[in-house]
Amino acid sequence: MFVVNLNGRLIFRKMTKKIKLLLIIVFVALIAVLGSWLYYQSEQLKNRADSLLKYGNAKDALAFYKRAQSTFPLRFDLANNISGTKLIIKSNQDYNRITELAELQEPPPLTNLPSTIVAPNELFIPILMYHHIRINPMPGNPVWAALNVSPDQLDQQLSYLSTHNYHAITLDELSDALDGKISLPPNPIVLTFDDGYRNFYENAFPLLKKYHMKAVQFVITQVLGIPAYLTWDQIIEMDKSGLVEIGAHTRHHPNLPDLSQKEIVDEIKGSKLDLEKRLKKPVHWFAYPYGSYSPFIIQTVRDAGFKGAASTVYGTNQSKDNLYLFPRIMIDGRFSVDNIARRIKQ
Ligand SMILES: [Zn+2]
Repeated sequence: MFVVNLNGRLIFRKMTKKIKLLLIIVFVALIAVLGSWLYYQSEQLKNRADSLLKYGNAKDALAFYKRAQSTFPLRFDLANNISGTKLIIKSNQDYNRITELAELQEPPPLTNLPSTIVAPNELFIPILMYHHIRINPMPGNPVWAALNVSPDQLDQQLSYLSTHNYHAITLDELSDALDGKISLPPNPIVLTFDDGYRNFYENAFPLLKKYHMKAVQFVITQVLGIPAYLTWDQIIEMDKSGLVEIGAHTRHHPNLPDLSQKEIVDEIKGSKLDLEKRLKKPVHWFAYPYGSYSPFIIQTVRDAGFKGAASTVYGTNQSKDNLYLFPRIMIDGRFSVDNIARRIKQ
């Protein structure tokens, strides 16, 4: 009996150990299966979000990225997708706002261009208006198609200007010419870029250097450094290059007529002060966000000490009477070089 009992206890002990081990193995296997199943589900949700984003549906994409993250909370890689998608939603809202407020210019058709006859007090100097210089990230959206000019397109346009003896001048030179202080080279033209996007530094600045052409960049001073926008270092470098004249485009790009008078003064004067503090020189030129202005806004621009301002009104002729509402020609991303050539020909 004793031997049997002893053997029995030993067998029992051995069995318990085995069962314990087995239980642990089963438990670990279950966790692994559950974990990989959840990861798989999360990956499916992420793929769904990726394809939604690809077709421009950022809002639904964001919801799917968030579901993917809550399904498998250990996926830290999704944090970037979520913050990036939020930025896209924000910029889509801004662009919808631009459509509503018509910073987008409605250019006249080529068959109905306004007269380019120059009055005695006027100079024929087309001022071109650009926004993004990059491959359109949202093809099919007409607003984005208008606002995005690809680096290749800009290259072709600058090449056209260069081979047809156009000379890109700054707004300072334009105003000196209007004052009769200097005479301009043949076929003067001004290249302006609004909003201070970083793609200007990455894609346009190298082309300006390639063609030795000057340009004006209107920056929004309180967004600088955010990934889509220029950094102060880039602005200072471009200013020092002598190729880029830096102008102000308010502190936050509001629709100025919506603000109180005090806020309007802060946006306009403030953006000038922000720039002058960093560039350590006077900033002379301003551009109205969304092309919106009022008599009070124009007076504030004047009082702040700006020499003049660019509008979004279509036109090519500049005069001293129009210093605070220079007309411009928006270069739509869908324009051919030939189309632009006809608009800038006197
Ligand atoms: Zn703008």
